[in-house]
Amino acid sequence: MTFAEMWAALLPVGRDDATGGYHRFAWTAPELECRAWFLDEAAGRGLEIERDANGNLFAWWLPADGTRTGAVLTGSHLDSVPGGGAFDGPLGVVSAFAALDKLRAENFTPTKPIGVAAFAEEEGARFGVACLGSRLLAGAITPERARTLRDGNGQTFAEVIAAHNLDPTRIGPDADLLNRVACYVELHVEQGRALQEPVGVASAIIPHGRWRLDFTGEGNHAGTTLLTDRRDPMLPFAHAVLAAREAAERHDSVATVGKVNVVPGGVNAIPSQVTAWLDSRGPDDDAVRATVADVHEAARRAAAEHRVAVELAEESYTEVVDFNKSLRDRLVTTLGGVPVLPTGAGHDAGILSALLPTAMLFVRNPTGVSHAPAEYAEPADCLAGVEALATVLKDLAGG
Ligand SMILES: [Zn+2]
Repeated sequence: MTFAEMWAALLPVGRDDATGGYHRFAWTAPELECRAWFLDEAAGRGLEIERDANGNLFAWWLPADGTRTGAVLTGSHLDSVPGGGAFDGPLGVVSAFAALDKLRAENFTPTKPIGVAAFAEEEGARFGVACLGSRLLAGAITPERARTLRDGNGQTFAEVIAAHNLDPTRIGPDADLLNRVACYVELHVEQGRALQEPVGVASAIIPHGRWRLDFTGEGNHAGTTLLTDRRDPMLPFAHAVLAAREAAERHDSVATVGKVNVVPGGVNAIPSQVTAWLDSRGPDDDAVRATVADVHEAARRAAAEHRVAVELAEESYTEVVDFNKSLRDRLVTTLGGVPVLPTGAGHDAGILSALLPTAMLFVRNPTGVSHAPAEYAEPADCLAGVEALATVLKDLAGG
């Protein structure tokens, strides 16, 4: 299977033909189809398949002497955000298989294992916590908390994975697996317009997190309830959205409210409850913390004015990730000098960087759009990415 054939096989999976957006949420039918595709590709290449206890998949190319330690891991994820693009995640997995094929075609023989990973629930689109699979693997979330995370239908993570042959009591850090990995190099589509050349190397992931705002008021009739009698949670919610934009401008950060649940959600009913999710990222911890504090303060003030209760809960927070400098420099040198750039997007490579050297290769995105159907990479740039990844793997897993 060439890159183009693999790409074509995945392209229709979970695609909404009306919008062109992808809906591949962890352990739903389209994502399971992507997993089956991964296992087929691994088996077709004679790679050793490993399913960890956290729902992550690995395909190993072992050296002739069967060495299992000192591995070079690559790959990415196969799940998507709601209505996401085709490239975010799958590009790294497809490129990894294509890079392996390239090395084999060149008769390269690795002295260290090369692994292809597909990490579970990277986007957190189903259970709310991004990079859930790698967080569990790395011990960056407790199994207790992960088990009780709920999806939009109220099903817990424990219930869902149990239905797919995983034992919820066995999830959590896996030192045995991670001790076998010397480094992780993730290839990913660039998610902004910063990269002007086909391939670049990541310097850092800026601090980012997610917070949930629960506004609780009183459900009532939209026609008969006097304005003065209302306790409408939609009003402080609206204040909070505007405050997020203002706070981001003040603190040189970004802030987004991209998801909101309104209960009961009737046109002719004052809501009883509004739950909104705030995503904020910035150049440093202080900028993000100050942004969230300002939003919280504005929400509290508006909530008090409208006799509504408000609570803010942090769902996840990731401090700045500076990718391992010597690995990053090695990639840049091996590739003959490519641009080095930071990103505002979170990745499994960021989570794993707490435990082992990690690095990222970015492939140019001419639209600069991501997490939306317009996300794109030119076929020639994708092949340049495969070439770069193969060069890096050869350097790290040979000799
Ligand atoms: Zn991604």
